[in-house]
Amino acid sequence: MGSTQNNSEARIILGIESSCDETAVAIVTGDRTIVAQRIASQEAEHAPYGGVVPEIAARAHAQRLAPMIEAVLADAGMAVGDVDAIAATAGPGLIGGVMVGLVSGKALAMAADKPLIAVNHLEGHALSPRLADRELGFPYLLLLVSGGHCQILSVEGVGQYRRLATTIDDALGEAFDKTAKILGLGYPGGPAVEQLTRQGDPKAVPLPRPLKGSKEPHFSFAGLKSAVMRAYESGEHAPADIAASFQQAAIDCLIDRLSKALRENPPFPALVVAGGVAANQSVRGALESLADTHTMRFTAPPLALCTDNAAMIAWAGCERLAMEPDFAGDPLDIKARPRWPLDPEAEAVRGAGVKA
Ligand code: AMP
Ligand code: MG
Repeated sequence: MGSTQNNSEARIILGIESSCDETAVAIVTGDRTIVAQRIASQEAEHAPYGGVVPEIAARAHAQRLAPMIEAVLADAGMAVGDVDAIAATAGPGLIGGVMVGLVSGKALAMAADKPLIAVNHLEGHALSPRLADRELGFPYLLLLVSGGHCQILSVEGVGQYRRLATTIDDALGEAFDKTAKILGLGYPGGPAVEQLTRQGDPKAVPLPRPLKGSKEPHFSFAGLKSAVMRAYESGEHAPADIAASFQQAAIDCLIDRLSKALRENPPFPALVVAGGVAANQSVRGALESLADTHTMRFTAPPLALCTDNAAMIAWAGCERLAMEPDFAGDPLDIKARPRWPLDPEAEAVRGAGVKA
C-alpha cells in the first residue's frame, strides 16, 4: 500500500500508547483518516486502589499490547509491512508502561524494517486537535489539561512549543480525581464529578480560586482540593453543591490564567483545548465563550481524542513525517523517559510536585 508513496498525505502510521492506564493502538493516515483503533482501559484493575498502580499498569500493557496490535492490523485489513512507520509513546508517563509500548514499537520497527518514531505523549495531545480539524493552522494557544499536566502552550509548529504557564502543584485532572475520591465517587473521577455537578449549585460553597489575578502566569490546584476536603468534612454542604462549586472554581482559574496569557502575548488566531479534562462540557463551554470574546477560532477534539489514545500518537508521527519526509527514524536504542517537557527551555517554577 502506501509504503511506496512519498506524498505525506498517503503515509500510513501505526501508533502505540501505553503511558498511563490505557493500552491503545491505532492506524492513521496522513490525510487524517483513522483507519482502525482499539483502546483497552484498565479502570477495573485500578479501581480497588482508587488510582493507577504503576506495576499493575505495566503488566496489563504487556499482556494486552501484542494481541491488540494484531487485532488493529486485522481491523484495517493490513499487514505490518503495509505501514510506513511505527510511532510509539516514549514518555512522559509511568515508566514501566512506557517501556512496554516503546519496546513493542522497536520490535515491530525492526522486524518490518520500518522507521520508529518516538513520540512525546504531550505532543500527541498538543497536535490531536489538528487531526480533528484540518483548518487549524499554526500558531495556536493550547490549554493542555490532563491527569498529569495543566499547561498553557504557544504551539508554533511541529516540535515548536513555548510553555507560557504550568501548575505549581496538582494537575487539574488530578484535582477532579481527588474531589471524586473525597465525595466517594470512585475512580476515575472526572466524569463522575461532572455528572454530579448537574444537580448542584456552583455558587453554594465558597471555594478559593488559587493564583487568580496573580502576577505570575501559573496554575495551582492543591489549595482548592484542600478546601473541597474541608467543605465536605464540615457536613454543611450537599456533595452535588461541592462538586458544582469545585468545577466552577477550577473553570474560573482556567479562564483567569488564559485571559492573562492572551493579554500578555501577541494575538493567537485560535484557542485549542486538549487532554482528558477537555472532555468536560462546562470547561469546553467556558473556553468557547472566551474564544468568542477574543474573536478567536475555538477547537476541541472529539471526546475520544481528548483522553489518552493511540490515534493522537500515530498522528504526531504523521506530522513529523510531513515536516521531515526523509526522516529515517529515531535510533532503536532511544530510551523511555518518565519526564519529557515539551518546552525544554521553560524555567522551573516554584512549588513542589511540578509535573513538567
Ligand atoms: P489524560 O491524563 O489525558 O488521560 O486524562 C485523564 C484525566 O482527565 C483524569 O484525571 C480524568 O479525571 C480527567 N477527566 C476525564 N473526563 C473528565 C471530565 N468529563 N471532566 C473532568 N475531568 C475529566
Ligand atoms: Mg494523557
